[in-house]
Amino acid sequence: MRIQVDTHTHTYASGHAYSTIIENAFAASKLGLPMFCTTDHASSMPGAPHYWFFNNQRVLPRFIHNVAIVRGCEANICNDGEIDIPLSVDPHLDWVIASFHEPVFPSKDSLVHTQALIKVICSNRVDALGHLGNPNFDFDFEAVIACAAEYNVAIELNNTSLKGETRIGSIDRCYEIAKVAKRLGAYVTTGSDAHFCEDIGKFNKVEQLINDIDFPLDKVITHTPKQFLDFLALRGRAPIEEFKKLMV
Ligand SMILES: [Zn+2]
Ligand SMILES: [Zn+2]
Repeated sequence: MRIQVDTHTHTYASGHAYSTIIENAFAASKLGLPMFCTTDHASSMPGAPHYWFFNNQRVLPRFIHNVAIVRGCEANICNDGEIDIPLSVDPHLDWVIASFHEPVFPSKDSLVHTQALIKVICSNRVDALGHLGNPNFDFDFEAVIACAAEYNVAIELNNTSLKGETRIGSIDRCYEIAKVAKRLGAYVTTGSDAHFCEDIGKFNKVEQLINDIDFPLDKVITHTPKQFLDFLALRGRAPIEEFKKLMV
C-alpha cells in the first residue's frame, strides 16, 4: 500500500515553512506523488497570510510539474468552535482542514475541546480535522469521531505527529484515534504536514499505522486520487474539470 495524496502541506506563505509551491510540486513529482493539497495556515496563526491569499488561489495552475494541486487551507479552530476564514473564502477552496493550534486556541479541558470539534464538524465548512492526537487538546474520541463519521468529515492521520518530534505524546493517541475511526466507520485522510518540500508525500509512519491496525483502504481517502475526488464529491463539492482525467 502506497498513499498517493498528501492533504496537508505548507509553503513559505505560512510564515514558518520554507518552500515554495513550485518546490513542493517538484519534490512530489520526484517521489511519484500524483496529487497534494496546499494548506497554508489561516490568518490567526502568527505570520500567516491574509485571507486574500486563499481567495486568489484561482491563479494557480491545476498541475505543477505534472502534480495535481488542490487549493486548500488549514484553518484554526477558535472561540468555541468557529474557524478563522470568512464565509466569502469558502467558494475559493477545494479542501479545508480545521486544527487546534496553541497560539490561537489555548488548551482548555476535554469537554471544551469536544464541544468545539463537534461544532466545527456540524458547521459543514471543513473536510477534515487535523492532527487530533495532540495531547494538549484531549477530547472525547467516541463522540467526536462518531459525529465526523455521520457528517463525512475525515480524521487526519498526521505523519509529523507520528514521528514523535513535535506534539509530543501524540503517537499512542493517534493509534487509539485510528482504531476508533476504524470501528465507527469514519473516513481518514493522510497529511505529511510538511513545512519543507523534502517532507511532501512522506508517509512511512502513517503507512505503518494503517498496516498495523489493518485500516480498511476504502476508508482511506488518499489511497488514490480517485478516492480523494470521490470524497470531495461526497462532501458536496463541485467536480474540478481539470482533474477528471484522474477519476480512473
Ligand atoms: Zn505550521
Ligand atoms: Zn497544524
